[in-house]
Amino acid sequence: MRYYSTNSKKNTASLSKAVLSGLADDGGLYMPEAIPRLPASLLNNLAALTFRELSFEIAKQLLGEDIPHPILEEIINDALNFEVPLVQLDHDLYVLELFHGPTLAFKDFAARFMARLMSYLNRDSDAELTILVATSGDTGSAVAHGFAGAPGIRVFILYPSGKISTIQEKQLTTHGGNITALEIDGSFDDCQRIAKQAFLDVELSRNLTLTSANSINIARLIPQSFYYFYGYARLKNKRQPVVISVPSGNFGNLTGGLIAKKMGLPIARFISATNANRVVPEFLQTGRFEPKPTRQTISNAMDVGNPSNFARILDLCNNDLEKMREDVWGASFTDDQTRDAIQELVNKFGYIPDPHGAVGYLGLKHYPENKSDKLIGIFLETAHPAKFPEVIRQLIDRELPLPEALEKAMSMKKHSVKLSGEFDAVKQYLLSVS
Ligand SMILES: *Cc1c(COP(=O)(O)O)cnc(C)c1O
Repeated sequence: MRYYSTNSKKNTASLSKAVLSGLADDGGLYMPEAIPRLPASLLNNLAALTFRELSFEIAKQLLGEDIPHPILEEIINDALNFEVPLVQLDHDLYVLELFHGPTLAFKDFAARFMARLMSYLNRDSDAELTILVATSGDTGSAVAHGFAGAPGIRVFILYPSGKISTIQEKQLTTHGGNITALEIDGSFDDCQRIAKQAFLDVELSRNLTLTSANSINIARLIPQSFYYFYGYARLKNKRQPVVISVPSGNFGNLTGGLIAKKMGLPIARFISATNANRVVPEFLQTGRFEPKPTRQTISNAMDVGNPSNFARILDLCNNDLEKMREDVWGASFTDDQTRDAIQELVNKFGYIPDPHGAVGYLGLKHYPENKSDKLIGIFLETAHPAKFPEVIRQLIDRELPLPEALEKAMSMKKHSVKLSGEFDAVKQYLLSVS
């Protein structure tokens, strides 16, 4: 399979080049040249497969020419070794829990898969691979965990100082070894801008083999299509149209869903639910894409003012606004609405969501076609609520026990390198340690 740049279909690369360079040299994002439809025999038989079996079947369609099947199977079995429960809350309301990986957010699917894929693709190279990743919270911890101790790979995590939760910060600053946390005086968009600039910088690329672990990397998107199939397959009743609400920030998760739909998954529509950072819902309304400065919210992993995967979503919809509206409905919600939704889920269903999942629930609740018995709604729960004790504790009087993995991180000492929000500061630092 070849991968083309969203800036020019003629600019193509191999899987290895696409994954190991992250961003195309023209600044575009890589997309697979073909998104094959799954064979009907498989689509009709999804429920018979385990999550890992299903993931392997899907991965084979996309990567099967480039990676020997036994290796692909091993990567998947090793990376995706956790549960993906679909929990029923009401007769037509479900939540797909994507937070059962080691860092308790859905980023584990992508980061663990990508770490193993990159190690495989880089296996014959003498050059150390340097991964630069910008995080609004959860990517950094998943990437740090996924790559910790990976031979021949160094990881630098850019995170916005004071804008991620204490637990998130502990999870990405306590690894040491091949993982370094760069604490940036700025917003997530500053971190993302610095990372993008670094990939296009000639001097850096002369001195380092740089790649990205952000969702600009195609390796992250592929595993994010697997769980849509698995969640759908677990539904008991599929007679009504199925709508999936995706709490979105950089829109990598939603891109994975759109890829699944292209591969034949019968989802009627996706809901892109955002917090106050609402450039995509606005685009769906007005047809104008107007990136804005990031606004800080209680669903901080979605505080993205200029979502990088928008280019891929446009591409998947052939740059056609009407086509995009058929596949995606968008809405944005305030922090007050999110707090109310957390309380509502607890009171009505005894379910404690995290702030991001609560935004997903709001998307379903406000979906105009969501009249009783007309459709089945699934929202994605993208993080464990215990990752956000500052928010959750104010709203419910139950104590949320800290899962073991988080407790361990909380007891360790933070190590970060503080840098200004200027690209040059990060560049000089990277050159000094290379
Ligand atoms: C990253 C993240 C999101 C947003 O996902 P995108 O793919 O960037 O849209 C939502 N919720 C949580 C908990 C996250 O970590």
